[in-house]
Amino acid sequence: MSRRVHARRVEGVDKNIWVEFTQLAADYKVVNLGQGFPDFSPPKFVQDAFCEAVSGGCQMHQYTRGFGHPALVKILAKFYSRIVGHEIEPFEDILVTVGAYQALFCTFQALVDEGDEVIIVEPFFDCYQPMVKMAGGKAVYVPLRPRAEGSNVLSSGDWVLSAEELASKITPHTKAIVINTPNNPLGKVYKTEELQMIADLCIKHDLLCISDEVYEWLTYDGAKHVKIASLPGMWERTITIGSGGKTFSATGLKVGWAIGSGHIIKHLKTIHQNSVYHCATAAQEAVAHGFQREYEQFGSPESYFQQLPEKLQDKRKKLASCLESVGLQPIMPEGGYFMMADISSVTVDFSDPSTKDEPYDFRFVKWLIKEKGLATIPVSAFFSPEHSKDFEKYIRFCFVKEDSTLNAAEDILRKWSTRK
Ligand code: PMP
Ligand code: GLN
Repeated sequence: MSRRVHARRVEGVDKNIWVEFTQLAADYKVVNLGQGFPDFSPPKFVQDAFCEAVSGGCQMHQYTRGFGHPALVKILAKFYSRIVGHEIEPFEDILVTVGAYQALFCTFQALVDEGDEVIIVEPFFDCYQPMVKMAGGKAVYVPLRPRAEGSNVLSSGDWVLSAEELASKITPHTKAIVINTPNNPLGKVYKTEELQMIADLCIKHDLLCISDEVYEWLTYDGAKHVKIASLPGMWERTITIGSGGKTFSATGLKVGWAIGSGHIIKHLKTIHQNSVYHCATAAQEAVAHGFQREYEQFGSPESYFQQLPEKLQDKRKKLASCLESVGLQPIMPEGGYFMMADISSVTVDFSDPSTKDEPYDFRFVKWLIKEKGLATIPVSAFFSPEHSKDFEKYIRFCFVKEDSTLNAAEDILRKWSTRK
């Protein structure tokens, strides 16, 4: 064929860190603190619910309601109405999707037009940028900045968003602001005042807010997750994204959702019905059971939403002290299950010429995988091309792992640091 095969929309979005680094981690059989997934089992009540669903007869193996299995949308509505402080309509205000990824994709496709600008707060989960681009929009970036530049930045809470800088990015073309709290990769959990500042700008300039909250239950040291949709005037303009995989430590389920006012969600449904149409019935049934159980246990010590952050709190400390002891300065996350660490104090003599044109953190992570058998993720991938250079001195570690995996990573790091 002599004519161009591809559509223009695939240009410039073909590179993907997950495709590249997940494959590398598999090829080198490493200790894997890279891609974010638990290496322990989901809670038994979710496993049991899934087993029951798949052995529960014909219905669970057939199509269910296209916009979300009734049992799931009903319990999500009941559960989140209590939290958002707004009566959520199960059949109007919720769209169930193939993971949070598809919820994000439907959101951008449904709401962003050719030429619209979408403000993305950096660092950001990498897929926002190509998704905005594929919708024909233009991504405009505003960075979280370390509070006092140059000094030691030890917690994700030290990274802040300037109200003036955010306001300066708003133009007549701006359609939406995208936030992610708790943030991947930094672990920042936005405080109510910070969310209020964003909300005020959204209301003043009549903007939508896309709030990715897939790590909403994972906060540490008293940090509290607040939903921007719960602030006055925000329900009618916020799309909140969630993930059953992240919520119940079962990332392979790929059940996600978008929640918002029916007048917005109906457009996401249009994209969904014309693309995926429907998500796996049994997986939705399992997530519905999980939420039913959590609804009953909410606030009690039995709640998985309390137990998981308690379990991760210790893993977070363990990883941070290991990184510190080998000279990789960690930034303590207030939430989520990732930790960024500064690698600028270590010098590595890269011998692999094939990576010589790549960003420093990409080269470092490849070296760590190939030479030391430890997988992590380069952080510059979570920044815009304009700012990525400034963040090549960080890599991201995932700590939602068995202690044995964290110990194996610690062994690798200690051996390496004593040999330097
Ligand atoms: N948003 C963020 C911030 C994420 O880290 C991820 C990765 N899981 C997703 C969305 C996508 O979630 P899912 O696996 O449910 O598609
Ligand atoms: N959200 C997970 C992470 O940040 C997984 C991403 C992915 O598989 N694309 O590691």
